[in-house]
Amino acid sequence: MPDPADTSFTIGTRLDGRHGRSGLLTTPHGSIATPAFVPVGTKATVKAVLPETMREIGAQALLANAYHLYLQPGADIVDEAGGLSRFMNWPGPTFTDSGGFQVMSLGVGFKKVLAMEAVGVQNDDVIAKGKERLAVVDDDGVTFRSHLDGSSHRFTPEVSMGIQHRLGADIMFAFDELTTLLNTRGYQEKSLQRTHDWAQRCIDEHERLTVERAHRPYQALFAVIQGAQYEDLRRKACRDLDAMRGSAGTGFDGYGIGGALEKHNLGAIVGWCCDELPEDKPRHLLGISEPEDFFVAIENGADTFDCVNPSRVARNAAIYVREGRFNINTSRFRRDFTPIDENCDCYTCAHYTRAYIHHLFKAKEILAATLCTIHNERFTIRLVDDIRASIEGEYYEDFKADALGRWQGRIKTP
Ligand SMILES: [Zn+2]
Repeated sequence: MPDPADTSFTIGTRLDGRHGRSGLLTTPHGSIATPAFVPVGTKATVKAVLPETMREIGAQALLANAYHLYLQPGADIVDEAGGLSRFMNWPGPTFTDSGGFQVMSLGVGFKKVLAMEAVGVQNDDVIAKGKERLAVVDDDGVTFRSHLDGSSHRFTPEVSMGIQHRLGADIMFAFDELTTLLNTRGYQEKSLQRTHDWAQRCIDEHERLTVERAHRPYQALFAVIQGAQYEDLRRKACRDLDAMRGSAGTGFDGYGIGGALEKHNLGAIVGWCCDELPEDKPRHLLGISEPEDFFVAIENGADTFDCVNPSRVARNAAIYVREGRFNINTSRFRRDFTPIDENCDCYTCAHYTRAYIHHLFKAKEILAATLCTIHNERFTIRLVDDIRASIEGEYYEDFKADALGRWQGRIKTP
């Protein structure tokens, strides 16, 4: 019988006077020292990079997207393979999202969380120019059309739980409604109630599936906190989800902080949530990857993070270094035979030059994506690892001042 005790969280060192802490999140497929960055492998692969390489560069866990794997190859095939970890030859912990974000943003043209900007207009039917809405939400679930072939599908809390149980990740997320900063306050309230009702259905279905699938390791379920930029809604969502139990008495194993966030209120929102959430449960923040965002989120109490950006921008020749971001595609790198980052310990920086990588992009060689993804993922993982070490070594403030000083200098071409 899968045992919820197979997933646990212990707190290591606390930051003085704040919610931030280091910790250890243990799952049936291994442990994650937190704070930790979790790279995204949307379709059960971090694009262009071997799982073995992800391990070598220090990834402790990977996150895949339920929506994409449901459409292709199908959750039943991943289940037959023995779950996500075995299917993709990644021996460590895995996360899946609920599919809600992808389904509800289908075709609408909005980017994930921090990229969204409220423009002062509030409208519940807003979509990006030139896009067609492919998803319709009602109180029971979401009907949507596949981005692959236009076929019609329906996700409900029970469907999302069924898919995520078959995918077999160590950590799953409850199915929630995505709102944007453009929605009205009235809609946010209504949506929060819907997300609350769906969370209850998720935990009930999760209990049922845990019993039914007793041959599989325990899968932890994280609730997702919505409430956009409203303090009272965020706090209420946290209290309600903390108190929520399934019919057999199960509570949530952790919490995801989701939805509409902007850079300027990221710290405040994470702080409100962590004021209310139980201290002994892990907290995941969805979708951040910039150095200043990590510091703000971590000191306010977030433990784990996922984001597709380090690999996505790498495929467009954008490189992260301590001094900022630059594009390796520009002609000044044609004869630059130095590594992309002298301070980096990744395989790419140990063996390849800027001139060579520049050439690969110009020649449209796919190795360019591999080499740059290795570097950007390593940069991001290492930054969060270094933050963790600074919390444990009690030099967090000094490390932050140094790292942000370099980053905010915005030296594009070191
Ligand atoms: Zn590197």
